[in-house]
Amino acid sequence: MKLSQIVKHAHTLPRPFCVSDGRRFRLDRIDPGDTGTLDADDKARAKEALERGIEAMAGLQDLLYASDRWSLLLVFQAMDAAGKDGVIKHVMSGVNPQGCQVTSFKAPSAEELDHDFLWRCVRHLPERGRIGIFNRSYYEEVLVVRVHPELLERQRIPPSLVGKRIWAERFENIRSFERHLTRNGTVIRKFFLHVSRDEQKQRFLDRLDRPEKHWKFSVSDVVERRRWDAYMKAYEDMVRHTATPDAPWYVVPADHKWFTRLVVAAAIVDALASLDLKYPKVGRARRKEVEAAKAALLAQ
Ligand code: ATP
Ligand code: MG
Repeated sequence: MKLSQIVKHAHTLPRPFCVSDGRRFRLDRIDPGDTGTLDADDKARAKEALERGIEAMAGLQDLLYASDRWSLLLVFQAMDAAGKDGVIKHVMSGVNPQGCQVTSFKAPSAEELDHDFLWRCVRHLPERGRIGIFNRSYYEEVLVVRVHPELLERQRIPPSLVGKRIWAERFENIRSFERHLTRNGTVIRKFFLHVSRDEQKQRFLDRLDRPEKHWKFSVSDVVERRRWDAYMKAYEDMVRHTATPDAPWYVVPADHKWFTRLVVAAAIVDALASLDLKYPKVGRARRKEVEAAKAALLAQ
């Protein structure tokens, strides 16, 4: 398949899951088991398409790096076992590690808690020409922190600044932060991998049945599951308030891993292709230099 065809598919496939104006977004409209126009019989073809997508991504990343103007920030959020790690592994499998960096954000350290909530993420933003992948992000500040108010308490924000509007204020801060990044050449794409509660249970049980997967299981994951509805409400509200044309959310069905990976890869190819990247033009003087260097090498 030609690159132009891959780019065209990459544009249409993820469209139904892209939210660029969150105001009317409803999470119950997205079925975690959705596989678009594909079904289980298409799995092999989907895997092949994923390979092609990843190859296209590698070529586009090379252009991103060479042109050294834009950077790409990919944010991943999801409930446990939704497949974040697998998606990131696949995306990474095709790109040049020199131009890509993954950062995982866990519960904040004492030093991190002593700063504003964006601080630790700002330190890991991708440089121009690079791709930055956030495995969890500042969005935890309106998800886990919202579901567990005691975490907000630990942030030691002056009490007079913590009122009923705290979440609305955080959404506003996040929107302006992302606008600021966009205006400076960082392209932002955000992915919420939306797994169903039943599928999560199945995946936890699979982990428990396989000793080599035990390390991935934590008892607290099962405890967190009890707050499913509160989390879904927080996710929905997050998308409603932070999905913008410049920094859209892709709410990706995540019960079928092959489909999730395909949609994410396509959205990334689409984002990179939309930049219309070109290799830097080499001027006459530079061309002469290159020719002279070649002649010198040949003469040695
Ligand atoms: P895995 O999917 O392999 O379990 P993980 O991303 O869940 O990986 P964990 O070691 O479980 O990794 O740690 C992540 C935990 O840190 C999550 O429970 C998340 O909610 C929590 N966390 C992340 N950011 C924050 C934050 N800003 N405040 C409080 N907790 C946070
Ligand atoms: Mg975990």
